Amino acid sequence: MLERIKNIAWEHREQITAWRHEFHANPEVSFQEFETTKRIKNYLEKMGFQNLRVGTAGVETGVVADLNPQKKGPCIALRADIDALPMQEQGNPPYRSKNDGVMHACGHDSHIAMLLGAAQVLKSMENELPGRIRFIFQPSEESPHKSGARAMIEEGVLEGVDAIAGLHIWSSLPAGIVGYKAGPFMASADEWECVVHGKGGHGAVPHLAFDPIVAASAMVGALQTIVSREIDPLEAVVVTCAHIESGTTFNIIPDKAFMEGTVRTFNQEVRSTIPERMERIIKGISDAMRCKSEFKYKNVLPPTVNDKAFTERAAEVARALLGDENVREVVPTMGAEDMGLYLERIPGTFMFLGTYNEAKGTVNPQHHPEYDVDDDVLPLGSALLSAIAWDFFRRKN
Ligand SMILES: [Zn+2]
Ligand SMILES: [Zn+2]
Repeated sequence: MLERIKNIAWEHREQITAWRHEFHANPEVSFQEFETTKRIKNYLEKMGFQNLRVGTAGVETGVVADLNPQKKGPCIALRADIDALPMQEQGNPPYRSKNDGVMHACGHDSHIAMLLGAAQVLKSMENELPGRIRFIFQPSEESPHKSGARAMIEEGVLEGVDAIAGLHIWSSLPAGIVGYKAGPFMASADEWECVVHGKGGHGAVPHLAFDPIVAASAMVGALQTIVSREIDPLEAVVVTCAHIESGTTFNIIPDKAFMEGTVRTFNQEVRSTIPERMERIIKGISDAMRCKSEFKYKNVLPPTVNDKAFTERAAEVARALLGDENVREVVPTMGAEDMGLYLERIPGTFMFLGTYNEAKGTVNPQHHPEYDVDDDVLPLGSALLSAIAWDFFRRKN
């Protein structure tokens, strides 16, 4: 069966590549994937999918398609994100972005093409599959404040779904290599902000002011002691202050300072302790320096945690499909993904598919203005998603 899946995917390679190029040329940013959605819907209908559900959070973006909806058996979802980034493409491929200031620089064009390819493969064997497959074309992954995954889950996309799998094209892995990791795979991503209120004054007479810049500076340093002095050193945590703003000119002590940043970790328990730790340090320094502070912490995305059994089995399938030498266990990344929201609720796995290829010039990292992928990996991705779905029914029986 794996040979057959691989062959069908390979037979469709030109189509899959053409899809990728079409989506690359017509990128749309988060929750504005209107044309993208129409194109996906159109291709799925051509394949014979019916009763597609279009739209997410009241916007006509995102598509959900079910294979074998009438069957009673178990259900696996395959997920692709479909949004592009608000940035100008600097490269010049024949399928260059036609939309100024918008670019598929994260590989989500490949994700759409690979999932359409998997839909094509699995559609051709639907009668042999004992259960249902849900294809989720999810809008808005790049905008964590309006996560498309969260919106789709709230609208019931996981109802009746037993497991989920997804792939992310990965620029740092060699082309064609599958990277997997059971357990925590990508980090949580939270945001914080803090306003330090002091008392303004003349730069020459600091003793008459309460300097919020000195207080904020002390906080930036002290916040690092959460990682270095308060958390088990074997836990990975990042506390970053990424934006700081205060003052107007060289001789005025301002009356306030603003800071904001991100917190990343893999461990939900550790994550839940961070706001208290930050607030305590910020408040302590404010008091010590005669300032007042307002601190806000926002939980944005959970870590992406791969189910152990599902992931190990999926890695086995990948090895059988692509060869042992093309499947590697990889280290987790502190980047975040809203795939974690699905995996928080049902078992499944999120894997990387490498696309780094010096001969083809696909060497730039994700979100780079000249980012591009090696199209030869796309049918492999379609085959892998299809094989994971097929294998899911085998283990359920
Ligand atoms: Zn991205
Ligand atoms: Zn991405």
